[in-house]
Amino acid sequence: MHEKQLGQLLIEMGYLTQEQLKVALDVQRVHSGMLGDILISLAFVSAAETSKAVAKQAKREFIDITGIKPDTELLRLFDINTLKCMCFIPIDKTGDTIRIAAADPFDVGIADTVRRKTGLKAEILVADKESILRSVEISFYLIEKPVKDEIVRMVSSVQTDTPELLDKIIKYAVTERATDIHISPESIGAHIFLRTDGIMRHCFAVPSPVHASLISRIKILSQLDIAEQRLPQDGSMSVELFDEEYDIRISTIPTAYGENAVLRLLSKNLSMFSLENLGFDETVRQKLEKCFAKPHGIFLVTGPTGSGKTTTLYSALRRINALERRVLTVEDPIEYRFPFIKQTQVNEKSGYKFSSAMRAFLRQDPDVILLGEMRDEETAEIAMRAAITGHLVLSTMHTNDAVTAIPRLLDLKIKDYLIASGVSGIMAQRLVRKVCRFCAGQHKTDAKMLASYGIDPKTPARHGMNSEMLLPKANGCHHCGGTGYAGRTVISEFLETDEEIQDMIIKNATPNEIHANAVSKGMLTMVDDGFLKAARGITTLDEIRRVAVK
Ligand SMILES: [Zn+2]
Repeated sequence: MHEKQLGQLLIEMGYLTQEQLKVALDVQRVHSGMLGDILISLAFVSAAETSKAVAKQAKREFIDITGIKPDTELLRLFDINTLKCMCFIPIDKTGDTIRIAAADPFDVGIADTVRRKTGLKAEILVADKESILRSVEISFYLIEKPVKDEIVRMVSSVQTDTPELLDKIIKYAVTERATDIHISPESIGAHIFLRTDGIMRHCFAVPSPVHASLISRIKILSQLDIAEQRLPQDGSMSVELFDEEYDIRISTIPTAYGENAVLRLLSKNLSMFSLENLGFDETVRQKLEKCFAKPHGIFLVTGPTGSGKTTTLYSALRRINALERRVLTVEDPIEYRFPFIKQTQVNEKSGYKFSSAMRAFLRQDPDVILLGEMRDEETAEIAMRAAITGHLVLSTMHTNDAVTAIPRLLDLKIKDYLIASGVSGIMAQRLVRKVCRFCAGQHKTDAKMLASYGIDPKTPARHGMNSEMLLPKANGCHHCGGTGYAGRTVISEFLETDEEIQDMIIKNATPNEIHANAVSKGMLTMVDDGFLKAARGITTLDEIRRVAVK
């Protein structure tokens, strides 16, 4: 596609601003390179967004191929080099048509190649280059080396090659889309668990000597003290796996049976940070954009650990124009680096705390401050002062729902009138698993069943439900590892602090009263949002109950 058209199209689609395009063209003048690649490296647009623009241009469908395991039989009809060179991957086959995800839908050679190699017609969908190459790498890796069997074989050998074993465990975790690897010693041997889409799963049992050498290997790679086995340690390492870079955060703690290690895999893929991809619906997105556009006030995201709060705030950062506004962040730790944003990491040990960072920031002429977490009185006080003196502050708290952030702020000794005037919005969120698009079934509901989930069939509009509709059911297939679910989406509730609610805060209304007032004005609760997503076929009632129903 013509470069200028790509830029204009991205602007039209709301992914890019005119000013960002100008900066990218300036960069291109001094650094040469494709405009699309420059836009991605400046984090102005993600690979997926660029790809959506290309799809629109070609009048083809965009497909997110993360988590799709292409049909092995189809893959075998091609060789890895052809797929990598021409940048496409077969997905599945219906009748005499084979669905292909390609980075360049204008490349007529792809359909020819598919016909020549398979004798089938190609239906071309569009996906981004990075995820196609990654998917090709992973698919052929799994065809050539059944990694799971390899690990089982390696752990049962006394003379096992530990570096190779660890490498295979991490690769296996990536192919399973895991975010965490747990290596946990028990009374007999040790166990390796993976967490995918928030759910832990036991994967391998390993003998004690192998456990000890794995822990040592992890410590060497992340520059931890091998000799120290009685104190917790934290470290990190960077690896490149299947054409994608990962930061791996490592934490070890001593337990009764030896050291327990947790490896958190952080992908550097910008596509994750998008309010649209996270699954916020249009109304919530508009409210969020309104909050982010304000010059001052504090916006809070609440939820337990692992509810995607950081991802939401990072998506917010992408929507805040860092070319026009000076953005500073203080985080623990920095999980993703954004150009044009000044990010710092707290270091409690050396005395660099959230509160000291906030104080220093206010002398750095900021417009927007992202504060990783509000957990102590001092930090909360400075953040609130910053919010009412002309700064936009984005932060997180650990509360169960939106409205309980208010008593939590009062606990942190923030005066009620400051909360009323300073807080511009509070959003609570959770992540729920999406049903697998390849195997999801349907089941018919009835009033009794809906009632068992706390849904009153007399108020269908609120949940988008009626007592005789078909709702998704989790089954299980090879794409989703038999779980019936693949990927996650957000469910949220957004409390707008309008004048009436500000008044209620000053008059010490209870959280229940404030909640009732917001609901009476149309606020959807997290559970409501969840049921709506089930009604739309995205997730299941069981999943909403697991995550959000109290
Ligand atoms: Zn499935």
